Amino acid sequence: MHVLVVEDDARLSRLLRRLLTQDRHVVETALTAGDGLEIATSGAELDAIVLDVGLPDRSGFDVARILRKQGSQIPILMLTARDAVSDRVEGLDAGADDYLVKPFAYEELLARLRALGRRPPTRKSIALRSGPFELDETTRRVTVGGKPVDLSQREFSILECLLRRPGQVLSRDQLLDYAWPYGVALTPNTVEAYIHLLREKVGNSAANYIETVRGVGYRLREG
Ligand code: CA
Repeated sequence: MHVLVVEDDARLSRLLRRLLTQDRHVVETALTAGDGLEIATSGAELDAIVLDVGLPDRSGFDVARILRKQGSQIPILMLTARDAVSDRVEGLDAGADDYLVKPFAYEELLARLRALGRRPPTRKSIALRSGPFELDETTRRVTVGGKPVDLSQREFSILECLLRRPGQVLSRDQLLDYAWPYGVALTPNTVEAYIHLLREKVGNSAANYIETVRGVGYRLREG
């Protein structure tokens, strides 16, 4: 399995790397939530993420939430420091598949990882369709009027957000939060620029479906 370990305790991180490598996993490590998110969303084919809750920049709960919001189905094993019910519930609510309370036995970590690897994907590939658009969240393929269109990651996210709520007006801020979930300081003008690119890529007739709602945001015309 290809495993990402997100753990800020450098000693534990090194130990987990050694252990998992011995168990014949391919291991990547990240010491912060930001780095972990970057690796997890970079297109790396991960089979599981071992995710610590207490990270310096943001919590493991946040990381799980962001990944799930982006449609990632990578199994997540959460490492919590306390055996508090609220922690476990929050972790599972955030989209974790399993959790382990620190300190844990390494055998147990390995066993749980193997179990996660055997688990079939919980969510099937979902195609979002509206008007001429079809977007597959798993393969990240987009077709417009049956023809494949090559979109950048941000263009894809913006179209995905619109396709999730056809007919609804979405504000620039909503689109910004969806396509840039890391809280990078961007202005609503960025959204405008990406909508412009998106319209150009999908072609004139499909671009008409992406309507500007003056002073508010954008709406995908239903059809
Ligand atoms: Ca920690």
